[in-house]
Amino acid sequence: MSITISSRTSNHEPTTTEKTCLCMYDGKPEQDCYFCNGRGVETVSDAPEVNMSNQNALTVLEMILETEPDYNGTISNNDIPKYLRRIMFLKNTKKEIGKNTRETEIDKNFFSMGIDEEYISERLGQVENILRYAQEHGEDVSWS
Ligand SMILES: [Zn+2]
Repeated sequence: MSITISSRTSNHEPTTTEKTCLCMYDGKPEQDCYFCNGRGVETVSDAPEVNMSNQNALTVLEMILETEPDYNGTISNNDIPKYLRRIMFLKNTKKEIGKNTRETEIDKNFFSMGIDEEYISERLGQVENILRYAQEHGEDVSWS
């Protein structure tokens, strides 16, 4: 189970670029290629998004929103500056990030992957990029 955070594209088609697919290494596309369906080119969107496990996404979102998030939700375009400031604060405050780390736990058959400061910092940076992209294009940011 995972959650993807992305900017909404309702009023704006993301710019896409075509790039040569990896399956073209020998000059011919593979007919059943997962990435390009045998076309030899892959379409890549410039709209950033990030995918995390449910637990990690909820941890990162809770740090940003300062309230317990649902499994899906929206940050409206008007609120983006507020959350950009919050991320800025978090990135400059190691203590806040340290509070949210979690050790990997193995309890009989249940395995819960931990998260460390580096992971949280990296994800905060990715969410920041998504917020900036949405701000620039007049969009909201949503996750589900
Ligand atoms: Zn391909």
